[in-house]
Amino acid sequence: MIFNVAQLLKSSVGTTYDVTLDDEDRLELEDGEAELAGPITGRLRLHRTNQGIFATGNVTAPIHMNCTRCLKEFDTAVTFPLREEFYPTIDVVTGTPVAPPDDPELAFPINRRHEIDTREAIRQNLVLALPMRALCREDCAGLCPQCGKDWNEGPCDCKQEVVDERFAALRELLNGANATEAD
Ligand SMILES: [Zn+2]
Ligand SMILES: [Zn+2]
Repeated sequence: MIFNVAQLLKSSVGTTYDVTLDDEDRLELEDGEAELAGPITGRLRLHRTNQGIFATGNVTAPIHMNCTRCLKEFDTAVTFPLREEFYPTIDVVTGTPVAPPDDPELAFPINRRHEIDTREAIRQNLVLALPMRALCREDCAGLCPQCGKDWNEGPCDCKQEVVDERFAALRELLNGANATEAD
């Protein structure tokens, strides 16, 4: 995930160089962000711009998640586009320091050895691409709130109606109607 771009920096604006993401430099995710289930894969095209290097491509990250309904662990893959700018800190020809861009927050530095480290850029984009609600499958039935049985494996003996979430609103309406009748 670290690529030397010295040759590309010496090339004319518009030159591109394709790289494949490898597993050699593992991406570290912070606690609570996500847990990787395998190596990150993808291909990036590095474009020489008049500012530095612009990287574009698609990245796929296999991740472990816990279903928010049944709490079971499952693996899934998240694919997301990457479009990030990298700016030089050292002039590749003269070796003199290069002034940072106007807004360094929007780009990542190319180190003194003329390498771009894509890990931080990938991490930031991965975190944004993570699903807000992790479900082991779209129609996961979840757990019984009383006995904790996984309803995906069948109903439990609890004396409560197993009601589909979609009917929950209807049930509330009916309960409301019954309450009025009782008065
Ligand atoms: Zn589930
Ligand atoms: Zn139950």
